Amino acid sequence: MNILHTIRTHRSLRLMLLLALTLAAGGYLWATTPRQPAYTPKHPCNPTNLERVITTLTPLHTKLAKPRPGDWLSQHKESGQTFAQYVASKPVVPTAKRRTIYVIPIGPFSPQQKKILETTVEFLGLYYQLPAKLLPATGDKAIPAAARRTHPQWGMKQYLAGWIMDRLLKPKLPKDALCLFGITATDLWPGRGWNFVFGMASLRERIGVQSFYRVLPTIPANATPAQKKNIETLALKRALQTATHEAGHMIGMYHCIAYECNLCGSNNQDESDRRPIAMGPHCLAKLCFACGCDPKYRFVQLVSFYRKHNLTAEADFAEKSYRKLGGDPAKLQPATKAKSK
Ligand SMILES: [Zn+2]
Ligand SMILES: [Zn+2]
Repeated sequence: MNILHTIRTHRSLRLMLLLALTLAAGGYLWATTPRQPAYTPKHPCNPTNLERVITTLTPLHTKLAKPRPGDWLSQHKESGQTFAQYVASKPVVPTAKRRTIYVIPIGPFSPQQKKILETTVEFLGLYYQLPAKLLPATGDKAIPAAARRTHPQWGMKQYLAGWIMDRLLKPKLPKDALCLFGITATDLWPGRGWNFVFGMASLRERIGVQSFYRVLPTIPANATPAQKKNIETLALKRALQTATHEAGHMIGMYHCIAYECNLCGSNNQDESDRRPIAMGPHCLAKLCFACGCDPKYRFVQLVSFYRKHNLTAEADFAEKSYRKLGGDPAKLQPATKAKSK
């Protein structure tokens, strides 16, 4: 790859900027965060119980391998975040009045992208065990010339991700929203020196954006129905992975540097495709702590979703995790009866 045109993809230039701002702002940003959830000792999301979940599930997870040349961690120094550090950071968490994940489509979508969009919204709800709603689409006419460009070498149209977050999404944040997530089929770029970005999210402001532009690989004209289906499943996996990664940032989760995990940073499509949709043990504990969800119940729902959408490896791993936590196998959807009739 030409060094001058090295693809720098990430999702988290903004994440890092916001971290710096948070530190600079001292107590102000902490003071604006909602109260921490108070769990009884027996609640599955009590931190002590979640530490037990971490210990139980850890043997199923793979430690993050040394980064390959060009991978996110080969170019960005990150310190990670343990579960205890996350709890101590007083993250943005859902409250009784503010717990819906809203998704707003921006600009035009093909019928295929629209289908992926609807499935992504459903999945966000299951993954975070919160209500997730699709808002009516907003056109792209409001995006000014200064926040658009045609990529100088590649020629595709792009929107400036930061403008979308600050100027388009922030004013639209619904009162009962945990977060507002914009999804567009147009490519995104985060600013000077970057070629594109899959998505970006704020750690504190409850907004994020994702592009489907790079999700759907080209389907060859002579592809067999099976090959076509495989490509569509890959597209869906990519969309679900990026959406749930960015939503993790929106509840204050930093990048993971410990395990093969959905919250790992990704510098390119190959690296992103190597990462699982599943969260590693610490990140899963953070999710359950923030959202107040029982990990076992969540796994039952995820197994069912994955089987319905032919995400077999994901279904098998979620099932293994559920069994490891001592979940009742009778509550799982059997692998051989994946389709509901
Ligand atoms: Zn990220
Ligand atoms: Zn992780």
